[in-house]
Order: sequence, then structure tokens, then C-alpha cells
Amino acid sequence: MASPTPQPGIMDIALYQGGASHIDGVSNVLKLSSNENPSGPPQSARDAITQTVQDLHRYPSTDHGQLRAAIGDVHGLDPDRIICGVGSDEIITFLCQAYAGVGDEVIYTEHGFGMYKISAKAAGATPVMVKERNRTVSATAILKAVTDKTKIIFIANPANPTGTMVGRARIRDLIRDLPDHVMLVLDGAYAEFVEDFDGGAEFATKHENVFMTRTFSKLYGLGGLRVGWGYGAQSVIDVLNRIRGPFNLSGPALAGALAAIQDRKFADAARADNAKWRAWLANALAEIGVPSDVSNTNFILARFADQAEAESCDDFLKTKGVIVRRVGGYGLPYCLRITVGDEAGCRRVAHVIRQFKEGAA
Ligand SMILES: *Cc1c(COP(=O)(O)O)cnc(C)c1O
Repeated sequence: MASPTPQPGIMDIALYQGGASHIDGVSNVLKLSSNENPSGPPQSARDAITQTVQDLHRYPSTDHGQLRAAIGDVHGLDPDRIICGVGSDEIITFLCQAYAGVGDEVIYTEHGFGMYKISAKAAGATPVMVKERNRTVSATAILKAVTDKTKIIFIANPANPTGTMVGRARIRDLIRDLPDHVMLVLDGAYAEFVEDFDGGAEFATKHENVFMTRTFSKLYGLGGLRVGWGYGAQSVIDVLNRIRGPFNLSGPALAGALAAIQDRKFADAARADNAKWRAWLANALAEIGVPSDVSNTNFILARFADQAEAESCDDFLKTKGVIVRRVGGYGLPYCLRITVGDEAGCRRVAHVIRQFKEGAA
């Protein structure tokens, strides 16, 4: 019997590896592997979600008007140029589906987020990897890799799993030198953690071929709710809305995200807490010979002597109930990515890594 054949590219996709969440036989596990907010979402969002239980028989809004208005209000953006999705992952999927297909190229960078490659292949397009310089995206290298076939360039800024950033002037120059047929997607999943940073909104406002994605999964602590959004030219939003399911976001998701974005106190406190404990953790690790690049996110990319040391440290952490992220799949086998936890979490992971270093010495 002939079996149904999937579209080209799909069988080449390596499944996304999420951060582990449990260790066999260990209780009191500390999960620092998925860049989640250690305090969870604001109480206002929890309450709003609970309220929606009354209305679960109702279909949710199809145009997400209230949520887009609130996002527009907080960020100073035109709500008509915003689209909401099931995490920013869905927005990334829409972009590839709408703009890249068989024979087209999608550029991502050496240590770039795994979803870019997956979404490009799912659309039948060819992902093209561009080298980074010292774990930082290089605009020059990206420009050199652009061809007539290039449709989309994905840059996370700040980046995951490196935590590094590309400065405003470099992004501006990249856009200036980019052919019009290429769309630059600035993934701002971690933009909320950077003081006075618009995630690239300024460029997406001005240029029809620049698009910004954002999420409620990181700073707002709502990874489990699955809400993200995108901002770009009206023409692009119109295209993406054609392939978006009319009820892609559930009632609870819309209500939770709305409450979260309106809770500015929560956002400011979460940003400040993260900055404080990130600095503490980076410093504590540096003191015991585990350096990291300056992080602009809610995680630290800890560097070890080599792959063997990184992996044995990870094994040791696991025996102590601490889960961090191996990033060998991102071309960083000598590193471990550690989410910034709360005070107790930061102290615990630093303590265990110190024990490891002392034992190894
Ligand atoms: C976490 C993350 C996302 C967002 O994922 P959601 O689908 O919104 O949960 C997007 N890009 C990067 C680089 C990320 O790390």
C-alpha cells in the first residue's frame, strides 16, 4: 500500500528539544532550563484567567481587538499593525508559511533559536546558517549570505541562547543594505528585559520589510498560556491574518495576556529583580572560574573549559536536583544555559557549581 507523502522538507525536521522538567528519583527539583519567570505570572493575570471559566462555552474574539489595543497602548504602536498568535512561535510559523517556500532561503545564525530552522523547513524552504562572531550575531556576515533566493532573515535580539545583543546602529545599517525582497524579522522575546529598548519597533514602523515578534512567555511568566504577537507593515499583517486561524487564541489566553500587559508594576518589578539576580549569578560564577558574556536576558550562558567539563557539571547539577540547559545543539557544547531564578534558586545553582569546581580541582 502506498502511504501518504508529506510535503518536502517536513521529514528533515529534527524535533524541537524543550528544557527538561524532572529528574528520576529526585524531589525538590530546581528547573532553570526554559527561561521561565521564577515567580510565575502576575496575580492580576491569574485572576483574569480564573474569571473566564464562566464563559468557556463562548467562542473567543477573532480579531483580538482588546488585547491589540492594550499592547498598542503600552508600546506606543498602532494596534492595526499588530497580530497575536499562539506564542511568538506561531507568528514565526506564519511568516515562513506566507513568505518562504520550496527553493527559497531563510537565514538564521550559528547559535540562533531552533524554531527558525524548523519553521523554514516546515514551509519547504532551505534554512541557511550564518556564522556568528564571539557568540554575537554579525550583520556583515548576514549581508554576505543574502542571495536572490533569500526571503527571510531571523535575528533574536537579545539572542537565545547567547544572551548577547546587536546594537542599534548595526541593525540600522543592516536594514539600509538589505535588498527590498528580504524581510528582516527581529525576534524580541527578551526585549522586555532590556531597559529602554523597543525591540526594534522603530525599524518595523519605518520599513515595510522589517517585522518584530514579541511574547508573553518570558518576562510575563506566561509560557504555559501560549500568547505572542507580531508588529509590522499593514501589508504584512494583512497577509498573516489570512493564514491565521480565526480562533487561534482561547478566551483564557486573551484574558490572561490582557491583564498581564496592563500590569506595569509587575513588569517593572520583574525586570528589576531579573537584573539584580542576573548580575549576582554572573559574578558568583565568574569568581569560581565560570565566565559568561554580559547577558541582556533572563539567563546566563556559562562557559566551561570544554565540552567534557560542561557535561560533567551538568551531570553533577542533576544529581543535586538542578536542571539547566545543554546547548551543544546550538553549537555551544562548552556552555550551559542557566535561567536566572529567584534569590534561592540563584544561590542554590551557584553553590552546586562551586561544589563541582572544588571537587574537580
Ligand atoms: C522563548 C523564545 C521565543 C518565544 O516563544 P513563545 O512561542 O512565544 O513561547 C521566541 N524566540 C526566542 C528566541 C525565544 O527564546
